[in-house]
Amino acid sequence: MLHPKIADISATRHILKTFDLRASKKLGQNFLIDSSVVQKIVDAAEISADDEILEIGPGIGTLTQGLLEAGAKVTAVEIDKKLPAVLEKTLEGYENFKLVQGDILKVDIEKIMPPNFKVVANLPYYITTQILLTLLEKKLPVTKIVTMVQKEVADRMTAAPNSKIYGAMTVAVQFRADVKIAFEVPPSAFLPRPEVTSAVVVCDVRESPFKVADEEFFIKVVRAAFGQRRKTLVNSLLGAGFLREKILSALEVAKILPERRAETLSIEDFVNLANSLK
Ligand code: SAM
Repeated sequence: MLHPKIADISATRHILKTFDLRASKKLGQNFLIDSSVVQKIVDAAEISADDEILEIGPGIGTLTQGLLEAGAKVTAVEIDKKLPAVLEKTLEGYENFKLVQGDILKVDIEKIMPPNFKVVANLPYYITTQILLTLLEKKLPVTKIVTMVQKEVADRMTAAPNSKIYGAMTVAVQFRADVKIAFEVPPSAFLPRPEVTSAVVVCDVRESPFKVADEEFFIKVVRAAFGQRRKTLVNSLLGAGFLREKILSALEVAKILPERRAETLSIEDFVNLANSLK
């Protein structure tokens, strides 16, 4: 079956008109209309035949089509109840496509995916961070996450210590994955156009090289440390309810000076701090 390309402005307009759809701002709907961007995302995902992909938010099937054409098996989770009928038409004839209608934050991913899957998505920007952290913190058997995010979020994900954008999210993501920005995407690649520049980020998920006694506690310490960025570590941790003596002895064991601020700590420093606080 020969499928017309969805990643195209006229095709997208035609599909929206045919199904009487309007892109929902509330659901973060910005549909890709640039086939070269779709291809670059597919390339970044390094798909081989029969790869199992979880796609979050297939929309009208634009990126899904690229993944299916590359030979992947795609399970897509879409919250918008109007879209299953559309996808049934736009992806008609592709055998390796399964749709789950629902909210990605509520779906039991382990139930719908086999082990060793990849995530590929043009994420809805209103919940990007929540989705990424959920995927990483749940320790799902995911090997690679390739996502379109706002450029600003991509910068935070890949930030290094001692910069203003290095924060709790940076540490949580880099603790579980090697992260890099693959390429930037201008607003003109979408319909409707978002107000910001986007970027595709590749996370290679791996066993953390850092040995953490209790991961939940580690994340709690990281969040507490960044809770009040301008304060010293001691004051941030005091503000989060830790006792002064405990904080000071944990910092000494971890060889971290008490007057340092959270943004100066490497991931290894956070791991040492959390382990000795515990
Ligand atoms: N993949 C399509 C593309 O690239 O053109 C659409 C991407 S659009 C930026 C984000 C998609 O995520 C929309 O289809 C939206 O309805 C869907 N979405 C929003 N919130 C969601 C959620 N909580 N769970 C699953 N899908 C969601």
